[in-house]
Amino acid sequence: MCGIVGYVGAKPAAPILVDGLARLEYRGYDSAGVAVLGPSEIRLHRDAVRVRELEAGLPKRFGGKSGIGHTRWATHGVPSQQNAHPQLSADGRVAVVHNGIIDNAAQLRAELEADGVPLTSDTDTEVLAHLIARAPADTLEDAVLTALGRIEGTYGIAVLHQAHPDRVVVARNGSPIILGIGDREMHVASDTAALVRYTKQVVHLDDGELATLRADGYQTFTRDARTTKTAVTVDWDASDYGTDGHEHFMHKEIAEQPDAVRRILKGRLDERFHTVRLGGLEMDARELREFRRVKILGCGSAYYAGQAGAQFIEEVARIPADAEPASEFRYRNPVIEKDTLYVAVSQSGETYDTLVAVQELKRKGGRVIGLVNAVGSSIARECDGGVYLHAGPEVAVASTKALTNMLVGFALLGLHLGRIRDVSPADGRRLIQALQALPEQIEAIVGDEEHLAAVAKELATAPSLFFVGRTRGFPVAREGAQKLKEISYRHAEAYQTSELKHGPLALVGPELPTVAIVPDDELLDRNLGALQEISARSGPLTVVTHDGVDLGVAPAHVIAVPKSEPELDPLLLTIPLQLLAYHAALTLGHDVDKPRNLAKSVTVE
Ligand code: GLU
Repeated sequence: MCGIVGYVGAKPAAPILVDGLARLEYRGYDSAGVAVLGPSEIRLHRDAVRVRELEAGLPKRFGGKSGIGHTRWATHGVPSQQNAHPQLSADGRVAVVHNGIIDNAAQLRAELEADGVPLTSDTDTEVLAHLIARAPADTLEDAVLTALGRIEGTYGIAVLHQAHPDRVVVARNGSPIILGIGDREMHVASDTAALVRYTKQVVHLDDGELATLRADGYQTFTRDARTTKTAVTVDWDASDYGTDGHEHFMHKEIAEQPDAVRRILKGRLDERFHTVRLGGLEMDARELREFRRVKILGCGSAYYAGQAGAQFIEEVARIPADAEPASEFRYRNPVIEKDTLYVAVSQSGETYDTLVAVQELKRKGGRVIGLVNAVGSSIARECDGGVYLHAGPEVAVASTKALTNMLVGFALLGLHLGRIRDVSPADGRRLIQALQALPEQIEAIVGDEEHLAAVAKELATAPSLFFVGRTRGFPVAREGAQKLKEISYRHAEAYQTSELKHGPLALVGPELPTVAIVPDDELLDRNLGALQEISARSGPLTVVTHDGVDLGVAPAHVIAVPKSEPELDPLLLTIPLQLLAYHAALTLGHDVDKPRNLAKSVTVE
């Protein structure tokens, strides 16, 4: 599930490979390595070290104009030099890097050992190097196909062979492989982050596809035939992957939200008809009117965004809508209805659980659109159409700007579905004006950072917290709790405020702070009642609300955000919770951008 890079061209490969690996570091890894094809042999340098140390330790003579590299996230065997990739065949003539898991590795290892092949690592990947080296084939492509024929599992791989110095062969099954088309050189990576410094023209391999990369171009194919691919242009720059003077990516990405929202809105608001233009949906009004339900699928924060999105769509477009974790949906043999519009949400577009849910849906004939940030990603390509989020690359593991743009994306979709039904032009105008006001309102919230940092400092000391909200505020509470858990490792639970007295209120007391989402909307009185209940039990309160609301209690902290239209309130209420989590994590001294145990995009099951 970690990082692959590869290069074939006229330049020294090692610096390009190491640079690519550095750009994949944000995904997290435990070991790193590169192999280049020297004049007479494959040279290997790998260890359980950071990319910077790998680079510092590169041997002087490490020349070669083609090569492959890897950042590993161990699944089979501890992080160590022997287990780091590239893995070599016994004769040293084949080097392989691999993302994913080979399910039948134990059996293949036993077979190879019985055949007298010395195994030098504990990895599943090593068997691939041996199988390719031993395949009775004339071409490297055939050898790779033969070896892959023996493999069960998921993989993205890149292969270097001493006897075929002009090429790198790559293959994909369930783990991304993206080719980068350069000027008389070819690059490959498992993530566009490693490519954008060299080229903007990329080609995404599909599952079951392989490709040969040579300096003068590439050829894609499957087991049965050659394939033709269209290159897509990535509009992200290498500079988007820097921290731009911020201490952390997460901080930068929070600050970028006003611009991210401007980008997703750009060209999509139709002020003449008070509606929204979503060309990427590839469904006309007549088709869209046929849908009687909307079902949203996502994982983690994308699922919470989906919950908020479902509420927006149901409230505005009056179409019954709900959200479900994609990770569960795919396993419960769901009934697929032809008049349901399915929506898959993912920042990376590579979230494995969501991707497989989409594939299951399509297999059963469902209509599915994507709300995806990464252009050309697997989910974007599998869907029938969709809305790109245009948040720009998001590097920090905890999602901020992509999540916000998911919420805006749902607002656009909901308004579009609504205006081809019964939403009036006046309501359309009201919501469009509210959308246009968002960037400045977000700026104001982000500008309140000092206050939020002080609140976070205090909350960070609590071992456990409640986040509560109701209806539109509930996904906000869930997302707020999730963010805190992810990066500050504090226990936080989210409840519907209305559910407190049905159980969790028993825990409320001086030791358990509650963050309450209290929008100035039609449920204000009900929410204020709950604040009284919490206060009466001496529960410390932090209230996230709107300017000018009389709370009737004296909370420890009040965080007030600008008012939007009620349907869009969740979006602005979420922003301060990002900064709360960020500063809580800082206070506790955690690695904000790379929290323990988590990966940015979960491309394995
Ligand atoms: N399964 C392989 C290993 O443990 C690859 C892990 C990865 O995706 O980084 O070496």
